[in-house]
Order: sequence, then structure tokens, then C-alpha cells
Amino acid sequence: MRKKIIAGNWKMNNDIFQTTDLLNGLKEKISSSEHLVIVCPPFTSLVVAQQLLKNSPIKLGAQDVSLFDSGAYTGEISVGMLKAAGCSYVIVGHSERRQYHGETNEIINKKAKKVLDAGLIPIICIGETLDEREKGITDQILTTQTKGVLADFSNAEVEKSIIAYEPVWAIGTGKTATKEQAEESHQLIRKVISQMYSWATAEKVIIQYGGSVKSENAKELLSQPNIDGALVGGACLKADSFAAIITAV
Ligand code: PEP
Repeated sequence: MRKKIIAGNWKMNNDIFQTTDLLNGLKEKISSSEHLVIVCPPFTSLVVAQQLLKNSPIKLGAQDVSLFDSGAYTGEISVGMLKAAGCSYVIVGHSERRQYHGETNEIINKKAKKVLDAGLIPIICIGETLDEREKGITDQILTTQTKGVLADFSNAEVEKSIIAYEPVWAIGTGKTATKEQAEESHQLIRKVISQMYSWATAEKVIIQYGGSVKSENAKELLSQPNIDGALVGGACLKADSFAAIITAV
């Protein structure tokens, strides 16, 4: 049985003071959970978050990582820095990184490898755009993305990784995929992983759904057999709404 993993991607929201308020609120509401709960604040809030989460079951993640370990890469943050700041998870390849920073499956694959090599766990995002869904090529896009982002992973590496299926048209739009649409895509992704590795491996991989998840739709989506958690954007920015998702599933 796969554990449910609920992660909150804060994106470019919350300075260190707002981080303190949000995490104190969240700690009060989530002092224990049968699910694994992760928060991914901006880089500047990681150290304060690490301090605040010391005696809490809530784990810490980052939203991106550099391809490089150190040196003349202005503005970049290495995986070693994230580890020292208390991160155990790193989101890679979010659709906003693909859209605004030109990240390709190849770059995302290299970033995910960096994260794994450092002993951290990547949350690797994939998902089709509205245009791709309307053209009827969702399966083709998800197959290419899955193969691309997992290229050259060992069995152990793929089993450790988390995949986040996030249909781009559902991110921040209030339009959630139906449970049938989401389950169908999750099934496909798991099938592609099974063809690359084996069913035994594919069965172990956590595949989260992301795209306008809220407490009202979380239970229905996460009770699908292949949906193992959620990557939450907007609804993770308030302790009440994030905690309501965690307790709803
Ligand atoms: C996201 O950005 O990963 C996301 C799923 O956002 P939202 O929940 O706001 O759609």
C-alpha cells in the first residue's frame, strides 16, 4: 500500500515573517498525520522553516535546484545548500519552470538525478497543456515526458522518486481534472514506468495529482487507486485550507 503524500508548493509567496505565521498555524493543526506532509517555501524561508519544523512531522522541500554544485552561477541554489537548509524533497520541472525558464525533460532529468545523488527525493512534475489535451495527444505527451524525465534512472532511483501529474490547464485555474481524467493519466504514467522497469517497480512509485486541489475535491481524487497524493498550490497558502485537504483524505 502506497503512503499518501501531500505537498504544498508555496511558489513566490511568503517572506520569513509570513512563513513563521503560516507554519505556526499549520503545526497547530497538523501535529500528526497518517499521510506524509511536505511544505515547499521559497529559498529565503527555508532556514526559518527548518527551525520551526524541528519537532513537527511536516517535512521541508524546495521548489527548484541548480544543475551545478557550486561556482559562477549567479542566482542559483545548489542541492548541497538545500540539504544544509533542511530540505528532504525538491520539486523539479514544475510547469512554471518549463514555461518561464525553458526547462526541458532533459534538464529536469538532470536536476532530478542531482537531487537523488545528494540523497534527497525529487518531486518530478509532468503534465499536458490545454492545447495538447484538446488535440487528443495527452497520452503521447505524458509518455514522452515520463520517459524523458526518468531517462537512465536505476530501479532504486525511480522507486524513490515522486511523480506529480499536473495538467497545466488545471494549475491555478480552479478547473480540476475529473477523477476519471486524473486516474486515466495516472494509470498511463504507471504503465509507462512498468514498461521502462517492471510492474513491481511501477507499483511502488508515488504519483501525486496537482491542479486546483482543495478540501472539496481532494477526497474524491485521492481515493482513486493510482492517485497517491497531491501537489497543492493556491490552497496551501492558508493553514486552514491546507490542513483541510490533509484531514479530508
Ligand atoms: C501547482 O502550482 O503545482 C498547483 C497545483 O497549483 P494550484 O493548486 O493552485 O492549481
